[in-house]
Amino acid sequence: MRPDLFEAPDYYQLDDLLSEEHKLVRSASRDWVKRAISPVIEEYAQRAEFPKQLIGGLAEIGAFGPYIPEEYGGAGLDQISYGLIMQEIERGDSGIRSTASVQSSLVMYPIWKYGSEEQRKKYLPKLASGEFMGCFGLTEPDFGSNPGGMVTNFKDKGDHLLLNGAKLWISNAPFADIAVVWAKDEAGRIHGLIAERGMEGFTTPETHNKWSLRASATGELIFDNVKIPKENLLPGKSGLGAPLGCLDSARYGIAWGAIGAAMDCYDTALRYAKERVQFGKPIAATQLQQKKLAEMITEITKAQLLAWRLGVLRNEGKATTAQISMAKRNNVEMAIKIAREARQVLGGMGITGEYSIMRHMMNLESVITYEGTHDIHLLITGADITGFNAFK
Ligand SMILES: Cc1cc2nc3c(=O)[nH]c(=O)nc-3n(C[C@H](O)[C@H](O)[C@H](O)COP(=O)(O)OP(=O)(O)OC[C@H]3O[C@@H](n4cnc5c(N)ncnc54)[C@H](O)[C@@H]3O)c2cc1C
Repeated sequence: MRPDLFEAPDYYQLDDLLSEEHKLVRSASRDWVKRAISPVIEEYAQRAEFPKQLIGGLAEIGAFGPYIPEEYGGAGLDQISYGLIMQEIERGDSGIRSTASVQSSLVMYPIWKYGSEEQRKKYLPKLASGEFMGCFGLTEPDFGSNPGGMVTNFKDKGDHLLLNGAKLWISNAPFADIAVVWAKDEAGRIHGLIAERGMEGFTTPETHNKWSLRASATGELIFDNVKIPKENLLPGKSGLGAPLGCLDSARYGIAWGAIGAAMDCYDTALRYAKERVQFGKPIAATQLQQKKLAEMITEITKAQLLAWRLGVLRNEGKATTAQISMAKRNNVEMAIKIAREARQVLGGMGITGEYSIMRHMMNLESVITYEGTHDIHLLITGADITGFNAFK
């Protein structure tokens, strides 16, 4: 892969909306991505391997629990800083951002929000430092968009809980030390439980042959009569709203992350178009390529505004689930369209691993599907504005 020459676009001077702390956090993440992710990511994606050596650096830039209070090992930052960190990491690779999103919003968040004080103290500092890695088990083979139908369940056996079932498509599963698992009790109510690697009957086979998020490890969680200590049940919240609350936080991060992938594709295409000469002039001087590039920067700018405003609303505790759905849906679609257009700007070179665009494009095929599919987010907006839920 070529040297990382990335320069972030800021067409509407959005930096004026950021505090000094926001800019510092962003620049630390940006520098680290250039130093640590860019030089190795292509090789790991080609090999379909998660670069585990990045875990320490991710912890150092505050990517594990950016908004978790410092007393629990988190970075204690606001929602805009959290978004900017996700943007920068996904500029490097959506798979690495996925690892950080899962750790922060799908593992640390539920332990922080729904866990007991003992659970917070036991797990959060180790998750923040990367000593423990976590995964989040909601999706099942027969229940993806409809997680409320899950069949994974546990029975109260007096001194422990007995967990049975299977989860599919779980990011970080193959190497995670702990899993936040969503399962039904005997009354059919959903609860979060913490399963630990090494518990008898708990296995995490890896899912192979992915053409997308190749640098992120994905797997299954299989529970065959796993004895879960009662103190590993998250006591603070139950029902489907509990996992959905985690997804709100993760989807918000994705809305920013997708901007990073789009910015990288745009920046690469712009530089290439200025340098690539055909018919005696740079292709950037042709109207067709200018149309592509002009539309890209317009869409990136709109997405930046959407994400920034959503961050302000989240800081104020006012962002709704439907507003988060809109931003996730819009920004991921924006990024995938830009990746497809940018690839064409590079002609044949666009399909190679010399440039990041094809990898971003393939990664975004997962991002547009996970954490609620593109369709489901549209239906969430539809239900919100009409009052009619069309997907149940
Ligand atoms: C790489 C990767 C990593 C993932 N990581 C995790 C993870 O860490 N943890 C986790 O729990 N899950 C994870 N997932 C799972 C992901 O969230 C699901 O794939 C997603 O929710 C969709 O579920 P599904 O794949 O079963 O598709 P389905 O729900 O079967 O959907 C198939 C199609 O039908 C459409 N559809 C479904 N219902 C309706 C409806 N009512 N109306 C109209 N259209 C509908 C969908 O939009 C989609 O296009 C991951 C997935 C991938 C690909």
